[in-house]
Amino acid sequence: MNKRIAVIRGDGIGPEIVEQAIAVLDAVARRFGHQFTYAEAPMGGCAIDGWGVPLPEESLQTCLSSDSVLLGAVGGPKWDAQPPHNRPERGLLQLRSAMGLFSNIRPARIFPQLSAACPLRQDIAERGIDFVVVRELIGGVYFGRHSTETVEGEAKATDIMSYTESEIRRVAHVAFQTAQKRRHHVTSIDKANVLDTSRLWRRVVSEVAEEYPDVTLRHMYVDNAAMQLVRDPSQFDVIVTENLFGDILSDEASQITGSIGMIPSSSLGEGTRGLYEPIHGSAPDIAGQDKANPIGTILAAAMMLRYSFSMSAEADAVEQAVSAALKDGLRCGDIMAPGCTLVGCREMGQEICRRI
Ligand code: NAD
Repeated sequence: MNKRIAVIRGDGIGPEIVEQAIAVLDAVARRFGHQFTYAEAPMGGCAIDGWGVPLPEESLQTCLSSDSVLLGAVGGPKWDAQPPHNRPERGLLQLRSAMGLFSNIRPARIFPQLSAACPLRQDIAERGIDFVVVRELIGGVYFGRHSTETVEGEAKATDIMSYTESEIRRVAHVAFQTAQKRRHHVTSIDKANVLDTSRLWRRVVSEVAEEYPDVTLRHMYVDNAAMQLVRDPSQFDVIVTENLFGDILSDEASQITGSIGMIPSSSLGEGTRGLYEPIHGSAPDIAGQDKANPIGTILAAAMMLRYSFSMSAEADAVEQAVSAALKDGLRCGDIMAPGCTLVGCREMGQEICRRI
């Protein structure tokens, strides 16, 4: 297959980690007989420096005309004084909106080799943590009307949370289709005992479930879900939830798996084109020192293969190569443990390529 991938290297450690993810994609292309071509799309602080805006029109068009988009990270102290509308992160919000990315998929998986990094009790970690959070990304209270006014002499703030059936339906489909590629179990999380949006959420998700008889569905209240995630995360396969609950629960899920440098994320809209990135930021404190862990970005590239290009065997090969490198004791600084071998960003990338 031939695929064109837009590449946003971004700022800080972005260029270093993206370089290694591209090396891994090239190793996959060689082994499986594909051809990947890369189109540069400057975004973030480097785009402000070069073009005056965080997302130049040409970069946006490059992303919209590619089969998928790979992103490192954007931002850094150099651009902190920019006005809110021209900050590096603004480019990311503009890109998500222009690409119509309504679902965010974030896996929470603990490699057995890193189970010591899990902050949960060892017996809980050893039961295995391997689930994904599918979060609705462009609806709910973050996108409702916000206002602050003075009422009877005191300040009053209001944020409106609303969902339409179609907004819920489309993200529910993403969750069920994700479960079909995994262990066929969806947990839908809401607050249907209190919120009307949650009661609608529950009804629509249940209707969509009827189209996926091979997937089981259960509903869970968000307060219970927050507890269950730390009590026994092994019970989850695919979690689907609305924007605000998903924002909070996906961070909780990331934390229980250990290092921030290990976790990828994908955002999808209609069709197969997605945006794939690690969950961390541009880590200015270690930029340019060959210290960054490239695994989150490499696993994001594996998600691109799986979800945008339907290349499951290729994605498996990348994940197995990462696992093998860890098994052989190779560690970047953020996941270093006694008895292991410390490697830099470049060497970790090369070692993973060798194992593809
Ligand atoms: P951060 O995620 O960049 O860094 C937090 C800590 O984790 C730092 O100590 C860093 O060294 C470490 N870290 C992060 N990624 C790592 C990796 N791959 N390997 C090893 N260590 C790693 O968060 P921050 O410091 O709050 O933010 C820095 C900049 O990144 C800010 O400008 C912020 O706005 C931006 N940011 C961008 C994105 C994005 O592009 N999607 C996301 C979050 C933050």
